[in-house]
Amino acid sequence: MNSKLKTTLLACAAVLTLGAGTQAHSQAAFPDKPVALVVPFAAGGPTDVVARMIAIPMGKALGQTVLVENTVGAGGTIAATRVARATANGYTIFIHHMGMATAPALYKKLSFDPLKDFEYIGQVVDVPMTLLARKDFPAANFAELQTYVKANAGKVTLANAGLGAVSHLCGLLFMSQMGVELNTIPYKGTGPAMNDLLGGQVDLLCDQTTQTVPLIKENRVKVYGVTSLTRLAALPNVPTLHEQGLKGFEVKVWHGMYAPKGTPAPVLEKLNAALRAAMQDPMVKQRLADLSSDIPPLEKMTAAGLKNHLEAEISKWAPVIKKAGIYAD
Ligand code: ASP
Repeated sequence: MNSKLKTTLLACAAVLTLGAGTQAHSQAAFPDKPVALVVPFAAGGPTDVVARMIAIPMGKALGQTVLVENTVGAGGTIAATRVARATANGYTIFIHHMGMATAPALYKKLSFDPLKDFEYIGQVVDVPMTLLARKDFPAANFAELQTYVKANAGKVTLANAGLGAVSHLCGLLFMSQMGVELNTIPYKGTGPAMNDLLGGQVDLLCDQTTQTVPLIKENRVKVYGVTSLTRLAALPNVPTLHEQGLKGFEVKVWHGMYAPKGTPAPVLEKLNAALRAAMQDPMVKQRLADLSSDIPPLEKMTAAGLKNHLEAEISKWAPVIKKAGIYAD
């Protein structure tokens, strides 16, 4: 072999070794700068509440700041696309709810594939929902609400956080059970939607207990029922929609944490360990219990646990959404 070729090959080998060494070093040093935790809805909403609650103990476990970044729009799909396209180095991660499973059926042109474009860090929390009205809405209880919406469908407004949001899904299930079409008003998240409900600018909203329990306890909204099949310890006097006649009406909002496809395994292991630490943090456990939210068992806080659940949920919701004839072009 001539000496020029030999020198070139040795140089290539050195670069490759150096590259591999640099990569191994960067993975070992991860994280050596803040980690962005992307939230697909506006600040103040339930997803944002959970993200900001766990960002602190996650940061403690990682030894770095975890910065919550709200990327809003299109029921969470804009944020999902951003993260799917982000550099796969662990510095951009994502928290989203079951909207990750309903998006493939809802959006004909989806710019990401939930099962191909992400790595799975683990399941985070399961949150029930509550059906609310503005304080002075003219229906004192669920029976009166059913009568009122059937007689005044064209006048009643129902807020949601866009196609793919769980408030949208809950609202749809409610309207189909009532056999009515209400005026749905989309927001960038149920944080801003709640502001309008509290201000009396919108009539109804179905939202997660992570945002609504304090407002219900402070008597700032009307509550007609919860979307779990059994009553909630934090709201013992609020009946379920199931016991009030909407048999089987159950919406429990699961959440997962994701990273872009190709994020190195050692980095994912650190992120998973930080998630587990956060979900076992006493303050997080107490606060989520107070907000009627369930922390999944640790075996679900794994890549396989989340991916298997996501696959099952995609299969579960596709026929429901198809039957309801809901989709975005
Ligand atoms: N979870 C969303 C939010 O935090 C609302 C929704 O999905 O309905 O705004």
